[in-house]
Amino acid sequence: MPDDGFNPEQQEYLKGFMAGVEARRGALTPAAGNGGAPADALRTAQDRTLAAGGKLVPQEQAKRDRHPLDRWDELTARAAEGKFPKPIDDFIGRFHGLFFVGPVQNSFMCRLRIPGGILNAWQLRGVADIAAECAGGYADVTTRANLQYREIPAEKGPEVVMRLGEIGLLPRGTGADNIRNITASPTAGIDAAELVDTRPLVRALHHHILNTRDLFGLPRKFNISLSGGGAVEVLEETNDIALAAVETSEGIRFRLNLGGITGHRDFARETGVVVAEAEVVAVCDAILRVFIAEGDRTDRAKARLKYVLDRMGVEGFLAAVEARLGRRLARLPVLGTAPAPAKHGHVGVQAQKQPGLRYIGVTMPLGRLTVAQLRGLADVAQAFGSGTIRLTVWQNLLISDIPEAQVPQARAAIAALGLGWEASAVRGGLVACTGAAGCKFAASHTKQHAATLADFLEANIALDAPVNIHLTGCHHSCAQHYIADIGLLGTKVERGEDMVEGYDLHVGGGAGPAQKIGRMIRKGVAQDELGPVVLGLLRAWLAGRDGPGDSFHL
Ligand code: SF4
Repeated sequence: MPDDGFNPEQQEYLKGFMAGVEARRGALTPAAGNGGAPADALRTAQDRTLAAGGKLVPQEQAKRDRHPLDRWDELTARAAEGKFPKPIDDFIGRFHGLFFVGPVQNSFMCRLRIPGGILNAWQLRGVADIAAECAGGYADVTTRANLQYREIPAEKGPEVVMRLGEIGLLPRGTGADNIRNITASPTAGIDAAELVDTRPLVRALHHHILNTRDLFGLPRKFNISLSGGGAVEVLEETNDIALAAVETSEGIRFRLNLGGITGHRDFARETGVVVAEAEVVAVCDAILRVFIAEGDRTDRAKARLKYVLDRMGVEGFLAAVEARLGRRLARLPVLGTAPAPAKHGHVGVQAQKQPGLRYIGVTMPLGRLTVAQLRGLADVAQAFGSGTIRLTVWQNLLISDIPEAQVPQARAAIAALGLGWEASAVRGGLVACTGAAGCKFAASHTKQHAATLADFLEANIALDAPVNIHLTGCHHSCAQHYIADIGLLGTKVERGEDMVEGYDLHVGGGAGPAQKIGRMIRKGVAQDELGPVVLGLLRAWLAGRDGPGDSFHL
Protein backbone atom coordinates (compact mmCIF):
# COMPACT_ATOMS: atom_id res chain seq x y z
CA MET A 1 0.00 0.00 0.00
CA PRO A 2 1.78 3.18 -1.10
CA ASP A 3 1.61 6.09 1.32
CA ASP A 4 4.11 8.64 0.06
CA GLY A 5 2.67 12.02 -0.84
CA PHE A 6 -1.06 11.12 -0.61
CA ASN A 7 -3.40 13.30 1.41
CA PRO A 8 -5.72 11.66 4.01
CA GLU A 9 -8.69 11.62 1.65
CA GLN A 10 -6.66 9.90 -1.06
CA GLN A 11 -5.25 7.45 1.52
CA GLU A 12 -8.76 6.47 2.51
CA TYR A 13 -9.82 5.94 -1.09
CA LEU A 14 -6.71 3.90 -1.88
CA LYS A 15 -7.20 1.66 1.14
CA GLY A 16 -10.71 0.71 0.06
CA PHE A 17 -9.73 0.40 -3.56
CA MET A 18 -6.78 -1.89 -2.92
CA ALA A 19 -8.80 -4.01 -0.48
CA GLY A 20 -11.37 -4.54 -3.21
CA VAL A 21 -8.70 -5.44 -5.73
CA GLU A 22 -7.16 -7.99 -3.37
CA ALA A 23 -10.53 -9.54 -2.49
CA ARG A 24 -11.47 -9.95 -6.13
CA ARG A 25 -8.07 -11.29 -7.03
CA GLY A 26 -8.54 -14.10 -4.49
CA ALA A 27 -12.16 -14.89 -5.26
CA LEU A 28 -12.23 -14.67 -9.02
CA THR A 29 -9.14 -16.31 -10.40
CA PRO A 30 -10.45 -18.38 -13.35
CA ALA A 31 -10.50 -22.13 -12.75
CA ALA A 32 -7.66 -24.09 -14.33
CA GLY A 33 -8.47 -25.15 -17.86
CA ASN A 34 -11.37 -22.77 -18.08
CA GLY A 35 -10.17 -20.80 -21.07
CA GLY A 36 -13.61 -19.26 -21.56
CA ALA A 37 -13.92 -17.71 -18.10
CA PRO A 38 -14.63 -14.00 -18.10
CA ALA A 39 -11.66 -11.84 -17.22
CA ASP A 40 -11.15 -10.77 -13.63
CA ALA A 41 -11.60 -7.18 -14.73
CA LEU A 42 -15.07 -7.91 -16.08
CA ARG A 43 -16.10 -9.54 -12.84
CA THR A 44 -15.24 -6.49 -10.75
CA ALA A 45 -17.81 -4.32 -12.48
CA GLN A 46 -20.35 -7.14 -12.60
CA ASP A 47 -20.05 -7.76 -8.88
CA ARG A 48 -20.64 -4.17 -7.97
CA THR A 49 -23.50 -3.69 -10.40
CA LEU A 50 -25.33 -6.81 -9.31
CA ALA A 51 -24.75 -6.15 -5.61
CA ALA A 52 -26.36 -2.74 -6.06
CA GLY A 53 -29.42 -4.36 -7.63
CA GLY A 54 -28.54 -3.16 -11.13
CA LYS A 55 -29.16 -5.11 -14.31
CA LEU A 56 -26.42 -5.63 -16.85
CA VAL A 57 -27.18 -4.54 -20.41
CA PRO A 58 -27.39 -7.42 -22.96
CA GLN A 59 -23.93 -6.67 -24.32
CA GLU A 60 -22.47 -7.02 -20.83
CA GLN A 61 -24.30 -10.26 -20.23
CA ALA A 62 -23.06 -11.61 -23.57
CA LYS A 63 -19.48 -10.77 -22.64
CA ARG A 64 -19.85 -12.83 -19.49
CA ASP A 65 -21.66 -15.79 -20.99
CA ARG A 66 -18.54 -16.66 -22.92
CA HIS A 67 -15.54 -14.41 -23.51
CA PRO A 68 -15.95 -12.95 -27.02
CA LEU A 69 -12.37 -13.76 -27.96
CA ASP A 70 -13.23 -17.42 -27.34
CA ARG A 71 -16.19 -17.37 -29.75
CA TRP A 72 -14.16 -17.53 -32.96
CA ASP A 73 -15.46 -21.09 -33.48
CA GLU A 74 -19.08 -19.83 -33.52
CA LEU A 75 -18.19 -17.09 -35.97
CA THR A 76 -16.41 -19.42 -38.38
CA ALA A 77 -19.12 -22.11 -38.14
CA ARG A 78 -21.84 -19.65 -39.04
CA ALA A 79 -19.76 -18.08 -41.81
CA ALA A 80 -19.10 -21.53 -43.29
CA GLU A 81 -22.87 -21.85 -43.74
CA GLY A 82 -22.93 -18.48 -45.48
CA LYS A 83 -24.79 -16.88 -42.56
CA PHE A 84 -24.24 -13.59 -40.81
CA PRO A 85 -24.39 -13.34 -37.01
CA LYS A 86 -27.57 -12.58 -35.09
CA PRO A 87 -27.61 -9.10 -33.46
CA ILE A 88 -25.93 -9.89 -30.15
CA ASP A 89 -23.48 -12.22 -31.88
CA ASP A 90 -22.66 -9.38 -34.24
CA PHE A 91 -21.49 -7.46 -31.17
CA ILE A 92 -19.31 -10.45 -30.33
CA GLY A 93 -17.94 -10.65 -33.91
CA ARG A 94 -16.77 -7.08 -33.58
CA PHE A 95 -14.20 -8.24 -31.04
CA HIS A 96 -12.55 -9.90 -34.05
CA GLY A 97 -12.94 -6.79 -36.23
CA LEU A 98 -15.97 -7.99 -38.24
CA PHE A 99 -19.13 -5.85 -38.35
CA PHE A 100 -22.37 -6.99 -39.95
CA VAL A 101 -23.72 -3.93 -41.81
CA GLY A 102 -27.11 -5.25 -42.85
CA PRO A 103 -29.55 -4.27 -44.03
CA VAL A 104 -27.68 -1.45 -45.78
CA GLN A 105 -25.14 -3.70 -47.48
CA ASN A 106 -25.98 -7.18 -46.14
CA SER A 107 -22.30 -7.96 -45.75
CA PHE A 108 -19.43 -7.62 -43.28
CA MET A 109 -17.30 -4.56 -42.78
CA CYS A 110 -13.82 -5.19 -41.38
CA ARG A 111 -11.81 -2.49 -39.64
CA LEU A 112 -8.07 -3.04 -39.59
CA ARG A 113 -5.56 -2.25 -36.87
CA ILE A 114 -2.62 -0.14 -38.08
CA PRO A 115 -0.71 1.25 -35.07
CA GLY A 116 0.03 4.93 -35.58
CA GLY A 117 -1.36 4.60 -39.12
CA ILE A 118 2.04 3.52 -40.47
CA LEU A 119 2.41 0.46 -42.68
CA ASN A 120 4.78 -0.94 -45.32
CA ALA A 121 4.39 -1.45 -49.06
CA TRP A 122 4.22 -5.24 -48.68
CA GLN A 123 1.42 -4.87 -46.15
CA LEU A 124 -0.47 -2.47 -48.43
CA ARG A 125 -0.19 -4.98 -51.28
CA GLY A 126 -1.62 -7.60 -48.95
CA VAL A 127 -4.44 -5.18 -48.05
CA ALA A 128 -5.12 -4.74 -51.80
CA ASP A 129 -5.15 -8.51 -52.45
CA ILE A 130 -7.68 -9.06 -49.65
CA ALA A 131 -9.85 -6.18 -50.94
CA ALA A 132 -9.81 -7.74 -54.40
CA GLU A 133 -10.46 -11.34 -53.38
CA CYS A 134 -12.62 -11.06 -50.26
CA ALA A 135 -14.23 -7.58 -50.12
CA GLY A 136 -15.68 -4.85 -52.32
CA GLY A 137 -12.51 -4.02 -54.26
CA TYR A 138 -11.60 -0.94 -52.21
CA ALA A 139 -10.57 0.21 -48.75
CA ASP A 140 -11.75 3.34 -46.93
CA VAL A 141 -9.34 5.53 -44.96
CA THR A 142 -10.88 6.25 -41.55
CA THR A 143 -10.59 9.16 -39.14
CA ARG A 144 -8.43 6.97 -36.88
CA ALA A 145 -5.66 6.74 -39.50
CA ASN A 146 -6.85 3.28 -40.34
CA LEU A 147 -8.35 1.31 -43.24
CA GLN A 148 -11.59 -0.63 -43.45
CA TYR A 149 -13.14 -3.02 -45.94
CA ARG A 150 -16.77 -3.27 -46.94
CA GLU A 151 -18.94 -5.70 -48.90
CA ILE A 152 -17.37 -8.84 -47.43
CA PRO A 153 -19.63 -11.89 -48.03
CA ALA A 154 -20.46 -13.96 -44.93
CA GLU A 155 -18.26 -16.90 -45.87
CA LYS A 156 -15.25 -14.62 -46.46
CA GLY A 157 -15.38 -12.89 -43.05
CA PRO A 158 -13.05 -15.23 -41.14
CA GLU A 159 -10.77 -15.45 -44.17
CA VAL A 160 -10.27 -11.67 -44.11
CA VAL A 161 -9.36 -11.75 -40.41
CA MET A 162 -6.91 -14.63 -40.88
CA ARG A 163 -5.23 -13.03 -43.87
CA LEU A 164 -4.88 -9.70 -42.08
CA GLY A 165 -3.20 -11.52 -39.20
CA GLU A 166 -0.76 -13.04 -41.67
CA ILE A 167 0.38 -9.58 -42.79
CA GLY A 168 0.69 -8.19 -39.27
CA LEU A 169 -2.60 -6.26 -39.26
CA LEU A 170 -4.76 -8.48 -37.04
CA PRO A 171 -8.02 -6.53 -36.56
CA ARG A 172 -8.69 -7.84 -33.03
CA GLY A 173 -10.62 -5.40 -30.86
CA THR A 174 -11.32 -2.81 -33.55
CA GLY A 175 -15.03 -2.85 -32.78
CA ALA A 176 -17.31 -3.29 -29.74
CA ASP A 177 -16.08 -2.36 -26.27
CA ASN A 178 -12.39 -2.39 -26.95
CA ILE A 179 -9.37 -0.16 -27.42
CA ARG A 180 -9.40 1.15 -30.98
CA ASN A 181 -6.51 1.71 -33.33
CA ILE A 182 -3.92 3.91 -31.62
CA THR A 183 -3.38 7.17 -33.45
CA ALA A 184 -0.13 9.10 -33.38
CA SER A 185 1.82 11.68 -35.31
CA PRO A 186 2.09 10.35 -38.87
CA THR A 187 5.35 12.24 -39.46
CA ALA A 188 7.02 10.46 -36.52
CA GLY A 189 10.74 10.13 -37.11
CA ILE A 190 10.82 12.37 -40.18
CA ASP A 191 9.66 15.70 -38.77
CA ALA A 192 12.09 18.44 -37.74
CA ALA A 193 9.45 19.99 -35.49
CA GLU A 194 8.64 16.88 -33.46
CA LEU A 195 9.63 16.56 -29.80
CA VAL A 196 9.39 12.76 -29.66
CA ASP A 197 9.41 9.98 -32.25
CA THR A 198 6.29 8.15 -31.07
CA ARG A 199 6.74 5.00 -33.19
CA PRO A 200 8.42 2.79 -30.53
CA LEU A 201 5.83 3.81 -27.93
CA VAL A 202 2.90 3.14 -30.23
CA ARG A 203 4.35 -0.26 -31.11
CA ALA A 204 4.85 -1.18 -27.44
CA LEU A 205 1.35 -0.02 -26.50
CA HIS A 206 -0.25 -1.75 -29.49
CA HIS A 207 1.31 -5.10 -28.60
CA HIS A 208 0.56 -4.66 -24.91
CA ILE A 209 -3.11 -4.24 -25.75
CA LEU A 210 -3.23 -7.11 -28.26
CA ASN A 211 -1.54 -9.46 -25.82
CA THR A 212 -3.43 -8.57 -22.64
CA ARG A 213 -6.72 -10.39 -22.49
CA ASP A 214 -8.02 -8.35 -19.55
CA LEU A 215 -7.97 -5.24 -21.74
CA PHE A 216 -10.71 -6.58 -24.02
CA GLY A 217 -14.33 -6.12 -23.03
CA LEU A 218 -14.23 -2.66 -21.46
CA PRO A 219 -17.41 -0.90 -20.36
CA ARG A 220 -17.38 0.89 -23.74
CA LYS A 221 -15.02 1.68 -26.60
CA PHE A 222 -11.78 3.49 -25.78
CA ASN A 223 -9.47 5.73 -27.83
CA ILE A 224 -5.80 6.49 -27.23
CA SER A 225 -3.67 9.00 -29.12
CA LEU A 226 -0.06 10.16 -28.83
CA SER A 227 1.18 13.36 -30.38
CA GLY A 228 4.93 13.73 -30.64
CA GLY A 229 4.52 17.16 -32.28
CA GLY A 230 5.09 17.92 -35.93
CA ALA A 231 3.32 18.89 -39.13
CA VAL A 232 0.09 16.95 -38.72
CA GLU A 233 -2.56 17.65 -36.11
CA VAL A 234 -3.45 14.30 -34.48
CA LEU A 235 -6.55 15.56 -32.65
CA GLU A 236 -5.36 13.78 -29.51
CA GLU A 237 -7.70 15.84 -27.34
CA THR A 238 -10.66 14.02 -28.89
CA ASN A 239 -9.44 10.74 -27.33
CA ASP A 240 -10.09 9.09 -23.96
CA ILE A 241 -6.34 9.15 -23.30
CA ALA A 242 -4.64 12.13 -24.94
CA LEU A 243 -0.85 12.21 -24.67
CA ALA A 244 1.00 15.16 -26.18
CA ALA A 245 4.76 15.73 -25.99
CA VAL A 246 5.71 18.88 -24.07
CA GLU A 247 8.83 20.45 -22.57
CA THR A 248 9.19 20.40 -18.79
CA SER A 249 11.95 21.23 -16.32
CA GLU A 250 12.90 17.54 -16.38
CA GLY A 251 13.00 17.23 -20.15
CA ILE A 252 10.42 16.08 -22.70
CA ARG A 253 7.36 14.44 -21.19
CA PHE A 254 3.84 13.58 -22.38
CA ARG A 255 1.09 15.80 -21.00
CA LEU A 256 -1.80 13.56 -19.95
CA ASN A 257 -5.36 14.68 -20.66
CA LEU A 258 -8.37 12.41 -20.20
CA GLY A 259 -11.93 11.80 -21.34
CA GLY A 260 -12.14 13.39 -24.80
CA ILE A 261 -15.34 12.51 -26.67
CA THR A 262 -16.35 15.19 -29.14
CA GLY A 263 -19.55 13.38 -30.12
CA HIS A 264 -20.62 14.34 -26.58
CA ARG A 265 -19.10 17.81 -27.07
CA ASP A 266 -16.19 17.29 -24.69
CA PHE A 267 -12.44 17.58 -25.22
CA ALA A 268 -10.02 15.67 -23.01
CA ARG A 269 -9.61 17.35 -19.63
CA GLU A 270 -6.34 18.62 -18.26
CA THR A 271 -4.95 16.54 -15.41
CA GLY A 272 -1.70 18.38 -14.70
CA VAL A 273 0.09 15.02 -14.96
CA VAL A 274 3.09 14.44 -17.20
CA VAL A 275 4.36 11.00 -18.19
CA ALA A 276 7.89 9.96 -19.16
CA GLU A 277 8.28 7.86 -22.33
CA ALA A 278 9.30 4.81 -20.30
CA GLU A 279 6.07 5.02 -18.27
CA VAL A 280 3.57 5.39 -21.10
CA VAL A 281 2.52 1.75 -21.33
CA ALA A 282 2.23 1.27 -17.55
CA VAL A 283 0.24 4.49 -17.07
CA CYS A 284 -2.15 3.68 -19.93
CA ASP A 285 -2.61 0.19 -18.50
CA ALA A 286 -3.45 1.57 -15.05
CA ILE A 287 -5.92 4.09 -16.51
CA LEU A 288 -7.62 1.33 -18.46
CA ARG A 289 -7.92 -0.87 -15.37
CA VAL A 290 -9.52 1.90 -13.33
CA PHE A 291 -11.93 2.49 -16.22
CA ILE A 292 -12.71 -1.24 -16.27
CA ALA A 293 -13.41 -1.21 -12.55
CA GLU A 294 -15.35 2.06 -12.44
CA GLY A 295 -17.16 2.21 -15.81
CA ASP A 296 -20.95 1.94 -16.00
CA ARG A 297 -22.18 -1.48 -17.20
CA THR A 298 -25.88 -0.68 -16.99
CA ASP A 299 -26.29 2.28 -19.33
CA ARG A 300 -24.31 2.28 -22.55
CA ALA A 301 -25.01 5.96 -23.14
CA LYS A 302 -23.10 6.72 -19.93
CA ALA A 303 -20.37 4.10 -20.19
CA ARG A 304 -17.49 6.12 -21.67
CA LEU A 305 -14.57 7.39 -19.59
CA LYS A 306 -16.02 10.93 -19.59
CA TYR A 307 -18.79 9.81 -17.27
CA VAL A 308 -16.40 8.11 -14.86
CA LEU A 309 -14.50 11.39 -14.67
CA ASP A 310 -17.76 13.28 -14.13
CA ARG A 311 -18.55 10.99 -11.21
CA MET A 312 -15.13 10.61 -9.58
CA GLY A 313 -13.59 13.94 -10.54
CA VAL A 314 -10.20 14.11 -12.20
CA GLU A 315 -8.29 13.98 -8.89
CA GLY A 316 -10.31 11.05 -7.59
CA PHE A 317 -9.72 9.16 -10.82
CA LEU A 318 -5.98 9.92 -10.71
CA ALA A 319 -5.82 8.69 -7.12
CA ALA A 320 -7.24 5.36 -8.28
CA VAL A 321 -4.72 5.22 -11.13
CA GLU A 322 -1.93 5.91 -8.65
CA ALA A 323 -3.22 3.12 -6.44
CA ARG A 324 -2.97 0.76 -9.39
CA LEU A 325 0.53 1.95 -10.17
CA GLY A 326 1.64 1.96 -6.55
CA ARG A 327 3.20 5.40 -6.87
CA ARG A 328 2.40 9.04 -7.45
CA LEU A 329 2.16 10.42 -10.96
CA ALA A 330 4.40 13.36 -11.76
CA ARG A 331 2.89 16.84 -11.98
CA LEU A 332 5.12 19.39 -13.66
CA PRO A 333 4.37 22.70 -15.33
CA VAL A 334 4.51 22.71 -19.12
CA LEU A 335 7.32 25.02 -20.24
CA GLY A 336 6.83 24.63 -23.99
CA THR A 337 5.05 22.72 -26.70
CA ALA A 338 5.83 21.80 -30.30
CA PRO A 339 4.85 24.49 -32.83
CA ALA A 340 1.19 24.31 -33.86
CA PRO A 341 0.88 22.58 -37.24
CA ALA A 342 -0.32 24.61 -40.20
CA LYS A 343 -3.78 23.58 -41.38
CA HIS A 344 -3.42 21.06 -44.24
CA GLY A 345 0.35 21.69 -43.94
CA HIS A 346 1.15 18.05 -44.69
CA VAL A 347 -0.51 17.99 -48.13
CA GLY A 348 1.86 18.18 -51.12
CA VAL A 349 5.66 17.95 -51.11
CA GLN A 350 7.21 18.62 -47.68
CA ALA A 351 10.75 18.58 -46.30
CA GLN A 352 11.80 15.87 -43.85
CA LYS A 353 14.28 16.29 -41.05
CA GLN A 354 16.62 14.03 -42.99
CA PRO A 355 18.55 16.27 -45.43
CA GLY A 356 17.59 15.72 -49.08
CA LEU A 357 14.45 13.67 -48.33
CA ARG A 358 10.83 14.69 -48.87
CA TYR A 359 7.42 13.28 -48.11
CA ILE A 360 4.35 13.77 -50.25
CA GLY A 361 0.93 14.29 -48.68
CA VAL A 362 -1.63 12.56 -50.92
CA THR A 363 -5.34 13.38 -51.02
CA MET A 364 -8.04 11.07 -52.35
CA PRO A 365 -11.65 11.58 -53.34
CA LEU A 366 -14.06 10.44 -50.63
CA GLY A 367 -11.34 8.86 -48.49
CA ARG A 368 -11.55 5.71 -50.59
CA LEU A 369 -8.80 3.75 -52.37
CA THR A 370 -9.46 1.15 -55.06
CA VAL A 371 -7.41 -2.02 -55.37
CA ALA A 372 -5.44 -0.48 -58.25
CA GLN A 373 -4.72 2.63 -56.17
CA LEU A 374 -3.67 0.57 -53.13
CA ARG A 375 -1.26 -1.43 -55.27
CA GLY A 376 -0.09 1.70 -57.08
CA LEU A 377 0.64 3.52 -53.82
CA ALA A 378 2.64 0.52 -52.59
CA ASP A 379 4.64 0.66 -55.84
CA VAL A 380 5.25 4.43 -55.52
CA ALA A 381 6.34 4.05 -51.89
CA GLN A 382 8.76 1.28 -52.80
CA ALA A 383 10.09 2.72 -56.07
CA PHE A 384 10.71 6.26 -54.83
CA GLY A 385 10.70 6.08 -51.01
CA SER A 386 11.50 3.61 -48.25
CA GLY A 387 8.30 1.63 -48.80
CA THR A 388 6.54 3.42 -45.94
CA ILE A 389 2.93 4.66 -46.13
CA ARG A 390 1.58 6.85 -43.33
CA LEU A 391 -2.17 7.36 -42.91
CA THR A 392 -3.50 10.48 -41.16
CA VAL A 393 -6.67 11.20 -39.18
CA TRP A 394 -7.61 13.62 -41.98
CA GLN A 395 -8.48 10.77 -44.35
CA ASN A 396 -5.35 11.25 -46.43
CA LEU A 397 -1.84 9.75 -46.41
CA LEU A 398 1.87 10.46 -46.72
CA ILE A 399 4.55 8.65 -48.71
CA SER A 400 7.86 9.32 -47.03
CA ASP A 401 11.62 9.18 -47.60
CA ILE A 402 11.64 10.28 -51.24
CA PRO A 403 14.96 11.76 -52.45
CA GLU A 404 14.39 15.32 -53.69
CA ALA A 405 15.48 14.42 -57.22
CA GLN A 406 12.83 11.69 -57.41
CA VAL A 407 9.92 13.91 -56.38
CA PRO A 408 8.75 14.79 -59.92
CA GLN A 409 8.48 11.13 -60.95
CA ALA A 410 6.77 10.24 -57.68
CA ARG A 411 4.24 13.05 -58.16
CA ALA A 412 3.56 11.93 -61.72
CA ALA A 413 3.02 8.34 -60.53
CA ILE A 414 0.59 9.52 -57.83
CA ALA A 415 -1.34 11.64 -60.35
CA ALA A 416 -1.50 8.66 -62.73
CA LEU A 417 -3.38 6.78 -59.99
CA GLY A 418 -6.06 9.49 -59.99
CA LEU A 419 -4.90 10.80 -56.60
CA GLY A 420 -4.01 14.38 -55.66
CA TRP A 421 -0.95 15.89 -54.03
CA GLU A 422 -1.66 19.59 -54.49
CA ALA A 423 -2.87 21.55 -51.50
CA SER A 424 -6.48 22.60 -51.92
CA ALA A 425 -8.16 24.94 -49.47
CA VAL A 426 -11.18 22.64 -49.34
CA ARG A 427 -10.03 19.09 -50.12
CA GLY A 428 -7.08 19.07 -47.69
CA GLY A 429 -9.53 19.20 -44.77
CA LEU A 430 -12.60 17.52 -46.25
CA VAL A 431 -13.65 14.63 -44.02
CA ALA A 432 -16.73 12.44 -44.42
CA CYS A 433 -17.87 9.38 -42.48
CA THR A 434 -19.18 6.28 -44.27
CA GLY A 435 -22.70 7.67 -44.51
CA ALA A 436 -25.85 6.06 -45.83
CA ALA A 437 -24.04 4.03 -48.49
CA GLY A 438 -22.72 1.70 -45.80
CA CYS A 439 -23.94 2.62 -42.33
CA LYS A 440 -27.39 1.91 -40.94
CA PHE A 441 -27.28 4.96 -38.62
CA ALA A 442 -26.74 7.50 -41.39
CA ALA A 443 -29.35 10.07 -42.34
CA SER A 444 -27.39 11.19 -45.41
CA HIS A 445 -24.98 10.01 -48.11
CA THR A 446 -22.07 11.94 -46.62
CA LYS A 447 -19.29 10.85 -48.99
CA GLN A 448 -21.22 11.64 -52.14
CA HIS A 449 -22.38 14.98 -50.74
CA ALA A 450 -18.82 15.84 -49.71
CA ALA A 451 -17.59 15.25 -53.27
CA THR A 452 -20.40 17.32 -54.77
CA LEU A 453 -19.83 20.12 -52.27
CA ALA A 454 -16.06 20.23 -52.94
CA ASP A 455 -16.65 20.39 -56.71
CA PHE A 456 -19.19 23.18 -56.28
CA LEU A 457 -17.02 25.27 -53.95
CA GLU A 458 -13.90 24.91 -56.09
CA ALA A 459 -15.88 26.11 -59.12
CA ASN A 460 -17.36 29.10 -57.30
CA ILE A 461 -14.91 30.53 -54.81
CA ALA A 462 -11.16 31.09 -54.53
CA LEU A 463 -10.03 30.60 -50.93
CA ASP A 464 -6.63 31.86 -49.82
CA ALA A 465 -6.70 29.92 -46.54
CA PRO A 466 -7.56 26.30 -45.74
CA VAL A 467 -10.97 25.42 -44.33
CA ASN A 468 -11.96 22.17 -42.64
CA ILE A 469 -15.36 20.80 -43.66
CA HIS A 470 -16.56 17.61 -41.94
CA LEU A 471 -19.72 15.68 -42.90
CA THR A 472 -21.00 13.15 -40.43
CA GLY A 473 -24.07 10.98 -40.97
CA CYS A 474 -25.46 10.83 -37.42
CA HIS A 475 -24.88 11.94 -33.85
CA HIS A 476 -22.14 9.31 -33.37
CA SER A 477 -20.00 11.90 -35.14
CA CYS A 478 -17.37 9.60 -36.66
CA ALA A 479 -16.26 12.56 -38.81
CA GLN A 480 -16.15 14.86 -35.74
CA HIS A 481 -18.31 17.66 -37.08
CA TYR A 482 -18.04 19.60 -33.80
CA ILE A 483 -14.35 20.41 -34.34
CA ALA A 484 -14.63 21.50 -37.99
CA ASP A 485 -14.73 25.04 -39.30
CA ILE A 486 -17.92 23.94 -41.02
CA GLY A 487 -19.50 20.84 -39.49
CA LEU A 488 -22.43 19.12 -41.16
CA LEU A 489 -24.54 16.65 -39.20
CA GLY A 490 -26.80 14.41 -41.30
CA THR A 491 -30.55 14.72 -40.81
CA LYS A 492 -33.80 14.29 -42.70
CA VAL A 493 -35.41 17.46 -44.00
CA GLU A 494 -39.08 17.97 -44.82
CA ARG A 495 -39.83 18.95 -48.39
CA GLY A 496 -43.52 19.10 -49.08
CA GLU A 497 -44.86 15.69 -48.18
CA ASP A 498 -41.44 14.02 -48.52
CA MET A 499 -38.34 13.77 -46.41
CA VAL A 500 -35.01 14.38 -48.15
CA GLU A 501 -31.43 14.03 -46.98
CA GLY A 502 -29.82 17.08 -45.47
CA TYR A 503 -27.65 18.50 -42.69
CA ASP A 504 -27.67 20.64 -39.57
CA LEU A 505 -25.04 23.30 -40.08
CA HIS A 506 -22.40 24.01 -37.40
CA VAL A 507 -19.56 26.52 -37.56
CA GLY A 508 -16.53 27.63 -35.60
CA GLY A 509 -15.16 24.33 -34.25
CA GLY A 510 -11.43 23.76 -33.92
CA ALA A 511 -8.69 21.50 -32.57
CA GLY A 512 -5.22 21.86 -31.07
CA PRO A 513 -4.49 25.42 -29.98
CA ALA A 514 -7.75 26.51 -31.69
CA GLN A 515 -9.75 23.97 -29.66
CA LYS A 516 -13.45 24.78 -29.73
CA ILE A 517 -16.80 23.01 -30.07
CA GLY A 518 -18.70 24.36 -33.08
CA ARG A 519 -22.16 25.85 -32.64
CA MET A 520 -25.21 25.07 -34.72
CA ILE A 521 -26.36 28.02 -36.78
CA ARG A 522 -28.94 26.42 -39.06
CA LYS A 523 -31.04 23.29 -38.90
CA GLY A 524 -32.11 21.12 -41.80
CA VAL A 525 -30.32 22.29 -44.95
CA ALA A 526 -31.38 19.94 -47.78
CA GLN A 527 -28.39 18.33 -49.49
CA ASP A 528 -29.13 19.96 -52.84
CA GLU A 529 -29.04 23.40 -51.17
CA LEU A 530 -25.79 22.69 -49.34
CA GLY A 531 -23.45 24.17 -51.97
CA PRO A 532 -25.04 27.65 -52.08
CA VAL A 533 -25.48 27.78 -48.29
CA VAL A 534 -21.84 26.87 -47.57
CA LEU A 535 -20.70 29.21 -50.33
CA GLY A 536 -22.61 32.03 -48.64
CA LEU A 537 -20.92 31.20 -45.32
CA LEU A 538 -17.47 31.25 -46.87
CA ARG A 539 -18.14 34.56 -48.59
CA ALA A 540 -19.30 36.05 -45.30
CA TRP A 541 -16.14 34.77 -43.62
CA LEU A 542 -13.89 36.23 -46.32
CA ALA A 543 -15.65 39.57 -46.06
CA GLY A 544 -15.58 39.73 -42.27
CA ARG A 545 -12.14 38.41 -41.32
CA ASP A 546 -9.03 40.48 -40.64
CA GLY A 547 -6.76 38.48 -42.98
CA PRO A 548 -5.85 35.00 -44.29
CA GLY A 549 -4.45 33.99 -40.90
CA ASP A 550 -7.77 34.68 -39.17
CA SER A 551 -9.48 31.57 -37.82
CA PHE A 552 -12.90 30.61 -39.11
CA HIS A 553 -15.62 32.46 -37.27
CA LEU A 554 -18.77 34.26 -38.15
FE1 SF4 B 1 -22.35 5.72 -39.33
FE2 SF4 B 1 -23.04 7.77 -37.82
FE3 SF4 B 1 -20.50 6.92 -37.82
FE4 SF4 B 1 -21.43 8.15 -39.94
S1 SF4 B 1 -21.23 9.06 -37.91
S2 SF4 B 1 -20.26 6.22 -39.94
S3 SF4 B 1 -23.56 7.49 -39.97
S4 SF4 B 1 -22.29 5.78 -37.09
